[in-house]
Amino acid sequence: MERFWSKVDIKNKNDCWNWIGAIDTNGYGAFKYMGKKINSHRFAWFLENDYFSEINICHICDNRLCCNPNHLFEGTGKDNMQDAKNKNRLATSKNKKHGFFIHPEKVARGENSGKHILTNENVIKIKFLLKNTNYKHKEIGKIFGVARSTISCIAINRNWKSIK
Ligand SMILES: [Zn+2]
Repeated sequence: MERFWSKVDIKNKNDCWNWIGAIDTNGYGAFKYMGKKINSHRFAWFLENDYFSEINICHICDNRLCCNPNHLFEGTGKDNMQDAKNKNRLATSKNKKHGFFIHPEKVARGENSGKHILTNENVIKIKFLLKNTNYKHKEIGKIFGVARSTISCIAINRNWKSIK
């Protein structure tokens, strides 16, 4: 994690955080994680949300190198559905298995999926709790519906310094 954020030009929460490491042929940042190449914005999404998204991670800023979690969002089911329709592959077994392309509205998302997205406001609250209370990381994680490891990351991650 330290290694990843050391290659990101971290700025204020509303600015683009450009990847300053290697860039792949598509113009996206390339980060090596456990021997695998992963696009930097996808890894930033993973660090923020604690799970690897199976669908596209898009930029609200259209800046492919941007790793600011505030600028990243999961591509909508609608986009993917349209894409799938165009390619006439709605009924392939893979899509059936995930159920996502057929009934995207039935797939739990966001708060309902149990994988909460931490807002900057919540990061501020977490930092406050870490500093001023004796809550354990696990307990704080429970309060915000995220894994203990996420809280630990916030506790040790100097890169969140911009958020006070
Ligand atoms: Zn951006």
